[in-house]
Amino acid sequence: MTDLPEPTVRPPGVGPLGDRFGRVATDLRVSLTDKCNLRCTYCMPAEGMPWLPSAELLTDDEVVRVVGVFVALGVTEVRLTGGEPLLRRGLVEIVRAIAALARGPACR
Ligand code: SF4
Repeated sequence: MTDLPEPTVRPPGVGPLGDRFGRVATDLRVSLTDKCNLRCTYCMPAEGMPWLPSAELLTDDEVVRVVGVFVALGVTEVRLTGGEPLLRRGLVEIVRAIAALARGPACR
């Protein structure tokens, strides 16, 4: 049996980001699009899926704002993903803005 630390509960919005087993999350993955040309069986049905309307996706500014909240909570590494291939009109600006956040997370 594995010895796990006593669960702790932090108030919302107080970093670092930890779970009730004491693990601290310092990395974040953000999917920038739901569109993908591949059909990995664990992710998408072979017949595909209806894509979300653009109005339901986070805007570029909203993506950067969300990442900024996580950076403020201790995230130091951000991975931007999406479908295959990753295509998003504002991708360069999003990467630039995330890289410029105060704590300067690594972007991959
Ligand atoms: S989004 Fe990723 S996991 Fe899902 S089908 Fe595309 S490549 Fe596979």
